[in-house]
Amino acid sequence: MVTTRIAPSPTGLFHIGTARTALINYIFAKQNNGEFLLRMEDTDAARNKSEFEDDIKSGLEWLGLTWDGDIVYQKNRTKRYLDVVDALVKKEKAYTKDGAIWFKIPEGTIIFHDLIRGEVVFDGADLKDFVIMRSDGSPIFYLSGVVDDHDSDITHVIRGEEHLSNTPKQIVLLQALEWELPTYAHVPLILNADRSKMSKRKDPVSITHDFKNKGYLPEALINYLALLGWHESETQKHVPSNAEGSKLKTKKSETEIYNLNTLIKIYDVSRMQHGGAIFDREKLENMNHHYIQKMGDDELREKLNAYKGDIKNDVYNRYVSITKPRLNKFSDIANDTSWLNNPVDHDPELLVFKKSTKDTTLKALNAILTNLPKIVTYEVTKIVDMLQEVVEGNNLQNGDVFWSARVALSGLEKSPPPAELMWVLGREETIMRIERAISFLNP
Ligand code: GLU
Repeated sequence: MVTTRIAPSPTGLFHIGTARTALINYIFAKQNNGEFLLRMEDTDAARNKSEFEDDIKSGLEWLGLTWDGDIVYQKNRTKRYLDVVDALVKKEKAYTKDGAIWFKIPEGTIIFHDLIRGEVVFDGADLKDFVIMRSDGSPIFYLSGVVDDHDSDITHVIRGEEHLSNTPKQIVLLQALEWELPTYAHVPLILNADRSKMSKRKDPVSITHDFKNKGYLPEALINYLALLGWHESETQKHVPSNAEGSKLKTKKSETEIYNLNTLIKIYDVSRMQHGGAIFDREKLENMNHHYIQKMGDDELREKLNAYKGDIKNDVYNRYVSITKPRLNKFSDIANDTSWLNNPVDHDPELLVFKKSTKDTTLKALNAILTNLPKIVTYEVTKIVDMLQEVVEGNNLQNGDVFWSARVALSGLEKSPPPAELMWVLGREETIMRIERAISFLNP
């Protein structure tokens, strides 16, 4: 049976690179009716934190990448590592020096087949003896990883490219122990646009803080992560009739839309590119936008409520539906939407467009008040027509009418266009707010 795993250290928040490695391991296991396991490499007692472990677990669950079986904790397995190290010493494959246990590098070439990179060759002469157990009895990662992969019957070690240089050391350990080698795949790194490594401090790498809390959808992130360093081959193109597998056209390029089930059908780890994959925030935004647009309004409201806290009223519901087409991620809906329910106090000067005067502003607002009740079907396009007529019929500038109406309704310098706000707030509330604005200007 195929068994894969990820083996994060709970010394930091769930990282986008780990999420991407998890996705590939998950897909590979499911493609082969196998299992995907989770192991905590928690031997660094000083740096481990339970909040990091929780973040990794909840992040995996949020993405839908649930692991099989129990989590393996390395901190519970010290005895097993000691036994293996003893066995290596007895076989004279390892020796004690300065209190630590060292592994003796055998001569010869180390060759392995990498699912992505093909044949990889290391010259044994380039390797030096290395420590496998510190003097305090704690195991070094090369050893504990090999022992755990063996004991968990891991058949495929799919991990980040940064581990490629560790692989020959782990292979010589496996050979000394006479254990079967897993198949390796080293996936390319995720890089910034300038090809630099993504940094924990500067770049968006935390699944929880930079993606989940910003209102990205797990489906969009899964889709986006799968396309980092991989695309469907032209010859194998599988085009289901529904939206899955369709192309999302963006300003710059086309992008494929796949859900996790489709990815399990079509993803091919061996076709991953070898070089680093550039993280393109705009492409992710477009992808997230696409998934939001595909949602029904009810589902969107439900998800937004889960994200922002429960807001249930008609005004808010209408606000969500007019904002939806512009929504790339949930955090694009302004955090403070209290002005929808209660008019905000603001500086009366704000009502006056910068190229306008108080008198023209009053003229515009009064004309709106006169015309608003005359609209037969109260909908956005009709309201736009009315506002346009107010401009033309009174020889006003667009700014006199559109700017002042918008401020009268939202009290904000930035908000959706006035006709949309008028529709969202409803006719009565709109009239009230415009009257209120007039009284601000005419105390
Ligand atoms: N703890 C290692 C990491 O987080 C895992 C190494 C491996 O997958 O073998 O990168």
